[in-house]
Amino acid sequence: MRISDPLKKFGIKSLVSAFSYRADGNMSLSLGDTADSLENRRKFLSRIGVDYRQLITAKQVHGKEVRYMAEENKASGALDYEDSIQDTDGFITDRKGVPLAILTADCLSVFIYDPVNRAIGLLHAGWRGTEQDISSAGIKAMSDKFGSRPADLMVGFGPSIRSCCFEVDKDFKSNFSFGLVEREGRVFMDISAINRRQLLSCGIKEENIFDPGLCTSCSGDFFSFRKEAGSAGRIISVMMLE
Ligand SMILES: [Zn+2]
Repeated sequence: MRISDPLKKFGIKSLVSAFSYRADGNMSLSLGDTADSLENRRKFLSRIGVDYRQLITAKQVHGKEVRYMAEENKASGALDYEDSIQDTDGFITDRKGVPLAILTADCLSVFIYDPVNRAIGLLHAGWRGTEQDISSAGIKAMSDKFGSRPADLMVGFGPSIRSCCFEVDKDFKSNFSFGLVEREGRVFMDISAINRRQLLSCGIKEENIFDPGLCTSCSGDFFSFRKEAGSAGRIISVMMLE
């Protein structure tokens, strides 16, 4: 069965969490063929109960800045990329009806839910963000702002490029002490596996992390920057408290 809500197995009420597929079209207003992006967003988001005109997006920079969003931030980047929240790779909120979005092609989106404080976090983790440990930054931001305890949190992963397809330079070995796979003298990286380890190190429980195991490159079901370079569109990951 097609997985599009990585938190579904936790049976959380009054929460929107979903990622799109290639078949839903390009969701970026700035990358790939953007001619139909707004209409693609409108269609996809209406299916999950989100008004595309209220969406909050980021100018993602492969960093580890995580920002708190509230009502006044709604619609930032919804209709014009230039209005996106600057220099941000993660959002957190405890406000209802504030839709958070991350756009990816190969990078991992990390969905976080705090059932005790009714708060959410959504992160963009490419290899650079992963190297900077944005997952830990996201957990810390939720702890600081909401008093979230890692042991309570539920985490789901979007699709990402995985060790089956993501060949990296051999010098990555000095940057990542785990999550690299060697095959026939070549080095491959598993972004999801590294983020999983980082989250476990923060105190997230093993059984509270769900990884659907989807590869953006070989599945063909998503956009892949590695495979398609400049022409690659983006899928969207969305979270909202209802
Ligand atoms: Zn693959």
